[in-house]
Amino acid sequence: MNEEIAKALERAHRVLIITHIDPDGDAIGSLLGLGLALEKMGKKVTMACENPVPRRFLYLPGSDRVVPYPMGSFEIVVALDASDLRRLGKAYSPELYGELPLINIDHHVTNPGFGTLNWVDPEAAATAQIVLELVEGMGAPLEPDVATCLLNGIVTDTRGFRTVNTTPQTLEAALKLQRAGANLVEVMENVFDRRPLGVLRLWAHILSQAQLEDRIIWAEKPRSLLEKFGLNDEGNYGLTNFMVGVEEADVAVIFSEKPGGEIDVSMRSVPGVDVSKVAAKLGGGGHPQAAGCRLKGTFQEVREKVLKELRKAL
Ligand code: AMP
Ligand code: MN
Ligand code: MN
Repeated sequence: MNEEIAKALERAHRVLIITHIDPDGDAIGSLLGLGLALEKMGKKVTMACENPVPRRFLYLPGSDRVVPYPMGSFEIVVALDASDLRRLGKAYSPELYGELPLINIDHHVTNPGFGTLNWVDPEAAATAQIVLELVEGMGAPLEPDVATCLLNGIVTDTRGFRTVNTTPQTLEAALKLQRAGANLVEVMENVFDRRPLGVLRLWAHILSQAQLEDRIIWAEKPRSLLEKFGLNDEGNYGLTNFMVGVEEADVAVIFSEKPGGEIDVSMRSVPGVDVSKVAAKLGGGGHPQAAGCRLKGTFQEVREKVLKELRKAL
């Protein structure tokens, strides 16, 4: 438990909580879980993320409350699941909020500790696992809606308790959340088993173009595919994870075109191969088995740069 952070939040009345761009289930689950818990303590809370809540997390309580560009007067800012300050995107305005204390709560090994107060625990399987400890430490009520959001974070970041960082502490946290009223089946069903038909069509397209070289399987996702399959830019619905399951590969990479001439690089690896080091070298971050970065350039330029670094790491 980080007493200093718990105390700082207990004292504050108006809190701004921000999670990372292109949010995943841990980002959204931690954001809503902490936000709702602080509200139950009587605080005024604003929850922010530059990008909209992906549709598979819209079932979570409070998902309609997330704003892209927070306005108002706050006493403290909390960054959740963000491995560096840039990951907060435009939701964090240094001009407006740079003078306020910034609490950095995260579990990425690559996090440099950019906050005024930092609680970075790379042993935690999800930021939501740290948020649970914080909520308990502050004596906030652990009600079913808060528990569901936090369980959503743990379940998604561990891919359903399948990643190597799933420890007894992770399972204990999940158990605590289930006991507090979180519906594990509902969480699993929403995050893993339901997806629009367009996503299947997108997967089929990307997989049919995937290439395998030197135990690296990679594929490209041009922006035109989003319109073609009627999708928002909400990530790849776990496709990189699926690709790293290919027996002939140790690393999977999806290169996704983003606005502004940038390419998002999503990497996964088998245990024993550390892609977070490669991502950090390229200006990104992440975990040993799941990491990413964003690079300017064409598909070919970015691919050559990334594959070169990956070959060195293998
Ligand atoms: P993704 O492949 O987008 O699911 O991301 C996998 C992991 O890498 C997540 O833990 C992200 O937080 C991290 N990550 C992805 N992109 C970036 C980036 N541009 N900078 C820092 N970390 C990233
Ligand atoms: Mn995340
Ligand atoms: Mn996370």
